[in-house]
Amino acid sequence: MYSLDILIQGFPGKSEDHGGLGWSTVPLLRGHGEVVLIDTSSYSYRVHPLERLGRLGLSREDITSVVLTHCHWDHICNYPLFPEAKVFVPHHDLEWAASQPVGTWHIPEFHVEKLETDQRVIRISEGDEFLPGLRTVATPGHTPGHLSYVAPGHRADLIFTDDAAKNQAELVAGQADMTLDAAASRASIQRLRTLAAEDPSNVIVCGHDRLLGLDGDKCSIFRNYELPSRPALRRNSRRRRSSTSPTLDSRRTSPWRLRNRLAPQF
Ligand SMILES: [Zn+2]
Repeated sequence: MYSLDILIQGFPGKSEDHGGLGWSTVPLLRGHGEVVLIDTSSYSYRVHPLERLGRLGLSREDITSVVLTHCHWDHICNYPLFPEAKVFVPHHDLEWAASQPVGTWHIPEFHVEKLETDQRVIRISEGDEFLPGLRTVATPGHTPGHLSYVAPGHRADLIFTDDAAKNQAELVAGQADMTLDAAASRASIQRLRTLAAEDPSNVIVCGHDRLLGLDGDKCSIFRNYELPSRPALRRNSRRRRSSTSPTLDSRRTSPWRLRNRLAPQF
């Protein structure tokens, strides 16, 4: 079994005028002697994951495995920060990304080039159990070779949908925004919903949203995954309305973010 911490809580936002925001979720799994990141977010998050690893008493050298879901810039660009990690990459997605012309939607050409030749890279495909209990689920649509992952958690399964179902709206509606193949995305989301519905305690980790659960057609939000707060935040707590330290969840749901010229993605 693996324990789950969320280093970066994803957010389902996009801008009208300033390009992709790429606020993607960065989960951390610990168990079976492994310390695993599922995706790494983007350049705008080079500091945050490292600082939050520090809160857990970890450094970037402690990461034993980085697992990528697809080859978009907001998921893969920080993989070089973890020098000791094996890097698991969806084989089909890497082949596809490497074959695309420069300028293709959300593909960081140099990172893809590096992944193709990096000796640390291990290519994985549908059905592989590549770490203890951690297995792949093919979820094409958003990109042709997108992989989602399932890991056994302490209470139930942890289902990393990532950008196959980027947020609650896509999971509930069964269809995806920003996909290269809408029909494939619908089938992938249905596959993920079927997996999730096997047990209402299963935790769904979307690429750009909170932690979710499915009970039939009802979608709920898990709120009990919180990292220890930074000492600096505790020192500043008098300036905040609440006497308790802020959590990732409370910061994410701040209305400021929605009002500040950001349109929700759904
Ligand atoms: Zn993506």
